[in-house]
Amino acid sequence: MQSSRSAALEEYARARERLVRRLSARGVQDERVLQAIFETPRHRFLPEALWGQAYRDTPVPIGEAQTISAPGVVATMTEALSLSGHEQVLEVGTGSGYQAALLHGLAASVLSIERIPVLAERADVLLSELGCDRVEVRVGDGTQGAADRAPFDRILVTAGGPELPLPLLSQLTVGGLLVGPFGDRGGQELMRIQRAGPKKFTREVLGACRFVDLIGEAGWSAPSL
Ligand code: SAH
Repeated sequence: MQSSRSAALEEYARARERLVRRLSARGVQDERVLQAIFETPRHRFLPEALWGQAYRDTPVPIGEAQTISAPGVVATMTEALSLSGHEQVLEVGTGSGYQAALLHGLAASVLSIERIPVLAERADVLLSELGCDRVEVRVGDGTQGAADRAPFDRILVTAGGPELPLPLLSQLTVGGLLVGPFGDRGGQELMRIQRAGPKKFTREVLGACRFVDLIGEAGWSAPSL
């Protein structure tokens, strides 16, 4: 007889399959991205009481007033990075660690920076437990990037900032891509920037979106307590 635990895991796998079909119907084309979403147990990145919401296309609170983005948004951002598997990736805003786990399956290495220590710690433990051994989680202000590990082939910013953080642009390889939401606090444009030459950047707007605040030296100032 099957244990209820393995029955639940099978149910989650079926829910992921449905989610992937929906994302594909809505235009996500990169098969590697869809496969990574199918393989990554998003429920594990949520508070256990919310596991039932894991495979709906909605953002979910993860504590500390932060949220894990909806799978559709995550899929769009990940696809926009055009990953082949060989890239060194920087993520700004580890949050739950879900996006970092996806990137781990799609790139060579991931450095993920989170400003809230308790979130970074939780994500780090879970990512190790899930075998994501090419992800490093670091506590700090991701708007400053990581000069010691630069340059990066891809940079993904998963919190909304007022403008493109200049330190991040300088840490991008020539030919590299940066994807992230920039604009007002109430709503941003999801942008893709390519470093076309040492001093040449091209910009593309992928759509409207709304993310939690990017807080840091090249972001918004921290809310007063
Ligand atoms: N990528 C995450 C979701 C991110 S929510 C996931 O898959 O779950 C955005 C996160 O960015 C929040 O956890 C927030 O604390 C963090 N953040 C905001 N400003 C930051 C900064 N300057 N540096 C690093 N992390 C930041």
